[in-house]
Amino acid sequence: MCGIFGYAGSRPAADLIHTGLKRLEYRGYDSWGIALRSQEDILLTKHTGALAAESGLEGSTPTVGIGHTRWATHGGVTDVNAHPHMATDGSFALAQNGIVENYQELKEQLLAGGYSFISETDTEVIVRLIEEERKHADSLAEAVRRAFVKLDGRNTVIVLPLAGDECDLIAVRNGSPLVAGRAADGIFIASDTLSFADQTDEVLLLENNEMIVLAGSEIKVLDARSGNPISRSFETINHEDSTIDKEGYPHFMLKEIHEQQHTIREAMRYSQHELQPFAEACRQARTIYTVGAGTAGYAAGQIAYYLRTIAGLRAFELKAYEIDSFTEGFSADDIIIGVSQSGETADTIEALEFAAQAGVRIASIVNMRGSTIPRMSQWSFFYQVRS
Ligand code: GLU
Repeated sequence: MCGIFGYAGSRPAADLIHTGLKRLEYRGYDSWGIALRSQEDILLTKHTGALAAESGLEGSTPTVGIGHTRWATHGGVTDVNAHPHMATDGSFALAQNGIVENYQELKEQLLAGGYSFISETDTEVIVRLIEEERKHADSLAEAVRRAFVKLDGRNTVIVLPLAGDECDLIAVRNGSPLVAGRAADGIFIASDTLSFADQTDEVLLLENNEMIVLAGSEIKVLDARSGNPISRSFETINHEDSTIDKEGYPHFMLKEIHEQQHTIREAMRYSQHELQPFAEACRQARTIYTVGAGTAGYAAGQIAYYLRTIAGLRAFELKAYEIDSFTEGFSADDIIIGVSQSGETADTIEALEFAAQAGVRIASIVNMRGSTIPRMSQWSFFYQVRS
């Protein structure tokens, strides 16, 4: 999982984006990049490895730009494959969070149409597809929309047009998270609200197939499938006071291991009154499934173990990748508990969606409020109990 971060406003964008990407570091990444819109062109910097302490863009004046932390899925970890990716004529830059499942098919069509590619990524296919759509669309935003609806998979994109375009930033969500934040001096678009928590608490959480277009102080939200405007408003959230830097630990995992003494106490602050409805539902359930990926998967296994041994309930841990083998077994009398730090783990989301289609009710334990998994859940519990 990686991160995107964009800013359009009146302050120099480079530092804001660099800080935003730092605040998204916890999501994991192998390379990073920033694109800034100057008067004449788009300035691009892309690197493999960890975010440098300085972006190398200090003192630059552009006030609009995008940044990305990449977790390579298609193409090696190289500077060329890092995002953002540029349009052939330099008219826009784009970064993607996710995977284009049908990229091969699209790439073949585009190659046949005379387009060439400089990276090995699925992401560059989106760029060339937008170039193709741009030939027939009235605006870049409309070309982005038309290209986006041709993509299969879970992907969220952010696009930075060259100066002179009618808009400043365009972003579309499907599957991977996308949020906007409104401050007095600009708008942020990012993968989570914590990445700009130091700048604003006025947020807009975009849903799948929603598109946001920024032009000066105007913010438009559209249905990406139809292009029709949608009325959405910003809400004020209390950012949880979780710290998102490594606080002196060499990496996040070590920090999290040391935090466990607090994490467990914090999670126990839920009152009986708050837990009772869920406890009752568990008691009534036919089967309780738990699911998570990586370390959260181990936690999910432990939860199922405690539900069996302490509560005496029928509980099993599922592997997200085996979920389709349970199709016949699921019923509306079951509950599935998803465990995820970010609330955005793609495999876990897919497993929960699959179970939900069979009528299974969803509960979750996550760290990140406002993320996808709690929004899918009938019951959700957070590490930071009070926000
Ligand atoms: N599929 C993208 C790539 O390999 C990954 C984007 C991401 O980091 O989510 O470039």
